[in-house]
Amino acid sequence: MVDSPAIDVADLKKEYRDGWIARKRFRALKGINLQVNRGEVFGLLGPNGAGKTTLIKILLGIVRSTGGKARMLGDAAGSKKARRKIGYLPENLNFPAHHTATRALNLYGRLSHVAESQIKTKSAELLELVGLAGREKEYVRKYSKGMRQRLGLAQALLHDPELLIMDEPTDGLDPLGRSQIRQLISYLREQGKTVFLNSHILQEVELVCDRVAILAKGKLIGVGTPAELTAQFFQNRNTRVRIELSGTPEQFSQLQEKSTVELIDLPEENLQQLTSGTDGQDDVDKLVDCIRGLDMSIHKLERSSLTLEEVFLSAVQAEDEL
Ligand code: ATP
Repeated sequence: MVDSPAIDVADLKKEYRDGWIARKRFRALKGINLQVNRGEVFGLLGPNGAGKTTLIKILLGIVRSTGGKARMLGDAAGSKKARRKIGYLPENLNFPAHHTATRALNLYGRLSHVAESQIKTKSAELLELVGLAGREKEYVRKYSKGMRQRLGLAQALLHDPELLIMDEPTDGLDPLGRSQIRQLISYLREQGKTVFLNSHILQEVELVCDRVAILAKGKLIGVGTPAELTAQFFQNRNTRVRIELSGTPEQFSQLQEKSTVELIDLPEENLQQLTSGTDGQDDVDKLVDCIRGLDMSIHKLERSSLTLEEVFLSAVQAEDEL
């Protein structure tokens, strides 16, 4: 069923039970609905304890759900058929240190029941792809974290999966290492693969993902493109304006009273920065008119877009306040 989504989750629930006698219950997933399209790079965001690992483990068939449905590429999550089509890059994959990259790939390939002949040809191709060609005879223990991560990616792709699940793929990598992983993810997208990644590095997610889901306390509180999420959580207030201005304390307090534009951080002293969330040029004009109408001086004005990190923090904070 090529038309079926890459990941299709309906009312998915997970309840952990703790202790032998009291059997305390904990609802880690509270009815998740999520569809990831084929060919999409999809990011799952959430603070610690949100349920991200639980969701990934259910998708991989490592943990059983306690309610709802999860299907991967048209087959039940965890079934043999689904698992054959999925590659997985766990967080901090530890290769046996005494192995070379070639031997490590051979070992993982055989564990995944990949034919010996395919392991050989595919290994060479993948080592080239991840930039480890020429280094394949070196011991993995001599590899940097970035090289090990790229080898992990080669391992996950050995059986040519349609869907790749990556757990914190850029965690602990330097900017160059992160950029290399991003390039590889973009290459996989060009090849028509689906990538589902879990990360807490929001700037990374913003750079590489087509769509993002935000999970908080076992509930999905937002799904969409980074731009859609910004719009959802900020009602389109996705521009920030910082103004350096000078005036007397009275003028600042009048500005507070008269401004029709939300002032996020209004200074009280002479020559300070004022931060405002605005809708667009109209709001910027209104704000500048108001400041000038009070005879205050504007020294500098800068506009910038809100980052996904700010959207995320605001969304999670709003959920905590419920
Ligand atoms: P992190 O970013 O810290 O890895 P996460 O979003 O991956 O967090 P999960 O590991 O899925 O979160 O855990 C979700 C909640 O379920 C947490 O409160 C955790 O303590 C709880 N939990 C996870 N596994 C178990 C378990 N086996 N038994 C009981 N509770 C568990």
